[in-house]
Amino acid sequence: MIPLFEAQEHVLSKINRLQATQVPLLEASGLTTAEPVVSLEPIPAWDNTAMDGFAVLSSDTTTASPATPVTLEVVGTIAAGALPPDAPKVTPGKAVRIMTGAPIPEGADAVLQVEHAEPLENGHLENEPLENEPQNKSTPISQSAGIQLSQSVPPSTHIRRAGEDLKAGQIAVPTNTTLSPAHLGVLASIGMQEIAAYPRPKVAVFSTGDELVSGGGPLAVGQIRDSNRHSLLALLQDSAEPIDGGVVPDDEAAIEEAFSRYAAQCDAVVTTGGVSMGDFDYVKVVLDRLGDMRWMQIAIRPAKPLAFGTIAGTPIFGLPGNPVSCMVSFELFARPALRKMAGCGDLHRLRVTATATEPLTRRPDGKTHFARVRWHWSDSGFVVSSAGGQGSHQLSAMAGANGLAVLPDGDGISAGGEVELILLRE
Ligand code: AMP
Ligand code: MG
Repeated sequence: MIPLFEAQEHVLSKINRLQATQVPLLEASGLTTAEPVVSLEPIPAWDNTAMDGFAVLSSDTTTASPATPVTLEVVGTIAAGALPPDAPKVTPGKAVRIMTGAPIPEGADAVLQVEHAEPLENGHLENEPLENEPQNKSTPISQSAGIQLSQSVPPSTHIRRAGEDLKAGQIAVPTNTTLSPAHLGVLASIGMQEIAAYPRPKVAVFSTGDELVSGGGPLAVGQIRDSNRHSLLALLQDSAEPIDGGVVPDDEAAIEEAFSRYAAQCDAVVTTGGVSMGDFDYVKVVLDRLGDMRWMQIAIRPAKPLAFGTIAGTPIFGLPGNPVSCMVSFELFARPALRKMAGCGDLHRLRVTATATEPLTRRPDGKTHFARVRWHWSDSGFVVSSAGGQGSHQLSAMAGANGLAVLPDGDGISAGGEVELILLRE
């Protein structure tokens, strides 16, 4: 048996990144950049207001207080979207009504938030009864003749400066960045329509075994339904472009045909079944003839056997047939490798330290165990409990698990003990 890290290093050492291509922005979510993306423009492109309010000259407001309010004449309005050449300007004693995101007009050096401005109508506060006017008349603030303010507005208040987010010439998204929703927004905001990125690998999946049948219908004694292919196709969704290769019988010619075809068509091939010790099938025979394979026994449980190698340069993952082993093997070996092909920097799942709420028992056997557990976040941090039966055929416990607890060789973890936890999902 070889240690886990040695098997993982061996696999990753044979994996190369795919050729980067130009990808339309709308298809780039989750891909990894192959070049730095530089912003050619400053973002924001011009000084603009962070608030609805009034563009003012700060020096007009220095004496404003509740006892000594300052009155400014409102000489126009600027909406978000344009700053025409005849747009109103701010000069001493004047203010311009302005909406969030609108360009700062010439002359202004600060913005008074609308909530801090009292609108004046013909020199009166709007809520003061006006002589000869009906009391319920309300004038939109943008049309009022002036405003009164009772606090000063320091220079630059509520102004978003040009280039404050990104300067022209600055790297907006570094190379080898896996694009998140926010990155896509950044790329859109600097006008990128295509970016150089690594594609998702095209990965064929097929199951092997004469005992396997697909779909419903009665099972003869000895037959089982093929579940692994469905789990693998779903696992591939997040890091690859899966191709369903169906079930291939334990027939030498059929297995050879499937490996040759998919190795030529795809960036990687993932199969399940036929890699255990003493297996009675042709996967080993065919792979040894077609490929450059290494048959590994790894000091882990589940997922001890792994066949990994290449056929004409295409990586081949021969995962074990037991359903839980198959999924754990995918997590530990295939997923990191496929992420490397796709250019990702972080290849492995996040690991955290958790507290066991019940004993997670095991027996010493020279292997690291990956227990199927449920975790949640509590007042005391991550806590875990068993997700059920730990046999490598007990797929329902895998389905109920959202993490794997790493149990080093020994007797396991007692209740209240610390355990390393691999987060599979939320
Ligand atoms: P193998 O690795 O081929 O020796 O298979 C080990 C165990 O996994 C056996 O009990 C198989 O019946 C089972 N098995 C193999 N392939 C699949 C599959 N595609 N779906 C579900 N179980 C499988
Ligand atoms: Mg088999």
